[in-house]
Amino acid sequence: MERNRDQDRKILRKLRRIEIHEYKSGLSVEEVERTYGIKAIKLASNENPYGPTPKVYEILRNFKNLNIYPKEIPELKEALADYLGVEENRIVLGAGSDGIMENVFKMFVERGDEVIIPIPTFSYYHTLASVYSARVVNVKRREDFRIDINRILNAVNDRTKVIFICSPNNPTGNAESFEDVKAIVESVDCLVFIDEAYVEFADQSLLKLAEYENVVISRTFSKAFGLANLRVGYAVMSEDLIKYYRAVSPPFPVSTLSMLCALQCLRDLKYMRDCVKKVKAERERMFRELKKRGIVVFPSQANFLFMRSPIKASEFVSELIKRGVIVRDCSNFLGCDEFSVRVSVGKPEENDVFLRALDDLLDHL
Ligand code: PMP
Repeated sequence: MERNRDQDRKILRKLRRIEIHEYKSGLSVEEVERTYGIKAIKLASNENPYGPTPKVYEILRNFKNLNIYPKEIPELKEALADYLGVEENRIVLGAGSDGIMENVFKMFVERGDEVIIPIPTFSYYHTLASVYSARVVNVKRREDFRIDINRILNAVNDRTKVIFICSPNNPTGNAESFEDVKAIVESVDCLVFIDEAYVEFADQSLLKLAEYENVVISRTFSKAFGLANLRVGYAVMSEDLIKYYRAVSPPFPVSTLSMLCALQCLRDLKYMRDCVKKVKAERERMFRELKKRGIVVFPSQANFLFMRSPIKASEFVSELIKRGVIVRDCSNFLGCDEFSVRVSVGKPEENDVFLRALDDLLDHL
């Protein structure tokens, strides 16, 4: 059928007016290999380089019911309750922690409401704020990237609906202190959303704060458990909030296959803990190696390191890509400067490839 450009444009006028803050993921290994004709490794999306426990592949091979809609598996909630030490009826599942966040926006945020975001942080909070027509109040972190309690509390007003706390924080890698976040939770009557996507790599957790009725804590199987592609997130909140959560959630957010694989991960915690141990050892090695090379790098409680590149981040990242290593340019993250780079911790041999590429780059400066 013939359509002209004007007809096509008409539909664009019907779109809601939202400021576009599209979430941009980095280049994939395939894209770099296709463009540059070289072998590449990706240290840009904070994935588990070892993948999930091999036992999940048995589930993938044997799964039959692809034609049947998913239903929650009680054993998964039980296993999560055990893993977390909280009651099953305070846990919900979502399509990744991204899916959880979107549901929380649906529950709380209307046009004109305010959300407080300590920056720099995970950019999807901004994307959702613009989709839900919220006013974002960006609050700068302290020099050491910890949240600034006074600035946050000063930014709260009657229109504030949600305060976002990411701990450990992406991209800076620091974890927040329990006491700091508790002080905020106790001083406000809005929701405090605590994103613990990377908590398995950290020395501390804020999970106990989920006892407060104005707290939601989200977590994920995408990072330490290595299931990023299966999209399983979960959150802990009060039973009262859970009723509303269910009301706004899409009917079938997580497939049975994904739930079965997540359950398998919880049944093999030793595997996850071994991965975390290896990643943490490599994180500390990379930290030392970067320091040795004179790079400014920040201590991390996550599976990535935040650093200041010796040349502009955009150039630094494209120079590394030419050498077959994909890292994340953070210079376009709100609150980051033009020298901000994040590198995920990979397997030792991948980290060595990164360090060799870095040496080569430094030699050519
Ligand atoms: N929170 C943070 C801080 C993240 O960095 C990410 C992933 N990049 C997510 C949440 C989303 O993770 P998921 O795969 O669970 O949606």
